Amino acid sequence: MAVEYKGGKCEACGYDRCADALEFHHNNATSKKFGISEKGYTRSWDAVKDELDKCIMICANCHRELHAKLAASGGNARVKSE
Ligand SMILES: [Zn+2]
Ligand SMILES: [Zn+2]
Repeated sequence: MAVEYKGGKCEACGYDRCADALEFHHNNATSKKFGISEKGYTRSWDAVKDELDKCIMICANCHRELHAKLAASGGNARVKSE
């Protein structure tokens, strides 16, 4: 349901073939309260939605690329939501 809430596809490249390949990236790591991708939600859906609003959903491929770019630009650089 988290995947549908975020549009069901990668925000970077539009990939939508396999929901298991979609991951969440927090724009601000310090605001992370709990891991959304973990199975078995212990929080209410409202809390999950609140958290999802701070994330972008991208496929595993784009996620790796994004982190590689972040690492290359100094690690803690802020991610622009492009
Ligand atoms: Zn992608
Ligand atoms: Zn990430």
